[in-house]
Amino acid sequence: MNLRIYNTLTKIKEKFISIEDGKVKMYTCGPTVYNFAHIGNLRTYIFEDILKRVLEYGGYEVKHVMNITDVGHLQSDADTGEDKMKMGAEREHKSVLEVARFYEDAFIKDLKKLNIKPATVVPRATEHIEDIINLIKTLEEKGYTYIANKNVYFSIDMFEGYYKLTNLTSKELQAGSRVDVDPFKRNPLDFVLWFGNSKYENHILQWDSPWGVGFPGWHIECSSMAIKYLGEYMDIHCGGVDHIPVHHTNEIAQSEGALGHKWVNYWMHGEFLILDNGKMSKSKGEFLTLDKLIKRGFDPLVYRYYVLQSKYRKPLTFSYERLEESKKSLTALKYKINSIINNIDEYTSKDEYKIKKYKDEFNKYINDDLNLANGFTVLFNVVKDDDLNSLEKKVLIEDFDKVFGLDFTKINKENKNISESKVNLVEKLLKEREESRKNKDWEKSDKIRKLLLEMDIEILDTRQGTRWNIKE
Ligand code: AMP
Ligand code: ZN
Repeated sequence: MNLRIYNTLTKIKEKFISIEDGKVKMYTCGPTVYNFAHIGNLRTYIFEDILKRVLEYGGYEVKHVMNITDVGHLQSDADTGEDKMKMGAEREHKSVLEVARFYEDAFIKDLKKLNIKPATVVPRATEHIEDIINLIKTLEEKGYTYIANKNVYFSIDMFEGYYKLTNLTSKELQAGSRVDVDPFKRNPLDFVLWFGNSKYENHILQWDSPWGVGFPGWHIECSSMAIKYLGEYMDIHCGGVDHIPVHHTNEIAQSEGALGHKWVNYWMHGEFLILDNGKMSKSKGEFLTLDKLIKRGFDPLVYRYYVLQSKYRKPLTFSYERLEESKKSLTALKYKINSIINNIDEYTSKDEYKIKKYKDEFNKYINDDLNLANGFTVLFNVVKDDDLNSLEKKVLIEDFDKVFGLDFTKINKENKNISESKVNLVEKLLKEREESRKNKDWEKSDKIRKLLLEMDIEILDTRQGTRWNIKE
């Protein structure tokens, strides 16, 4: 496999070489389960799923760990503000653990609806307090910590290389982290490993520790669960871009401080999904969930398709209009695929050479830092290539779908409003239109467009060729 990925640590696209031959150890930061995941969060989980699928498609066995944060995450990633779990419990008049389990369950259901493959291990922070305490003890023994106001802090000045993930200076990092400075911190960028002095009365989740009764900070949870399940060395660690300056920078400091060596080889980050009017956030009240999209008539896979059209390293602006276009385009694509499959009979045989040629091309793109947009172009070319028979097309489409995860060969019953003969007719007319355009017979090509419109078919001329959609 010749995979190249962009590494946030080195700021370049690098060839991927796994620590162990044929195996990949990967950690992705999971949700804080105090509310539903919004579709921005889900964009990041889709990106991580694609990464895993591309690795598996290339023959790697992937051990994937994704944590569930059910304690310790305050409103600001830099240890200030309210406790997120407590906010959820008060909002819903439930216990913290009830809230945690409810939203964990809802989150896992969202992943399933989006065809996101489950992680190999999904550890909960509250079930790993002993591991967390042990890691803090190691850091204490190595001189990375200090106690103030009953909290245990990590002293970033003790860790050489604190700025390596961001390449920012201390001032720049502080400017970006909108912190109300905790007067007990020696350096404003220090962070809490153990909250011994809860700011909140009756903090429900508390445990005994060498530093008194309390609860762990958020960053230490990830380091300790990642090391527990993946060992001292890891291939890939992922999250959204917001994690670069605080959470992942702190994870590196803790883990490498405790282990005494480099921890993760490749850091990968997904860009944000943004709304027309700004950032999507849970604290600002209204936010879009997958269920809201479903209630508006969108299949979850339409959202997956929408996300996969753009590069994971580019911000993506969400709009219902564009989601609508994705819905039409995916439906039309599935119908074309359906008609292809129905065309296969027992006498059809396949030419392996032709199949390999397309697979090689597909591989070239997806292995170029997960360029799925180009992967789609290969898929569309397969669908319309007259030199391929239906069986060859089917083999390729099913093969590519191992990466896309869009269930190309399944059609949703509720969308079944166009017959296969109509699909064939549309395809035939489109070919005629293409011919007439080649011959500069604009009158004829216009006529065909009109005829298609009368059949409720819209056509879209893109750089990748002509696509058609069912008009709603
Ligand atoms: P959280 O539950 O807030 O810890 O976030 C879960 C994941 O979603 C993390 O990897 C975040 O980096 C990511 N994330 C948060 N907001 C967005 C967004 N608007 N778009 C994409 N990813 C996001
Ligand atoms: Zn994390």
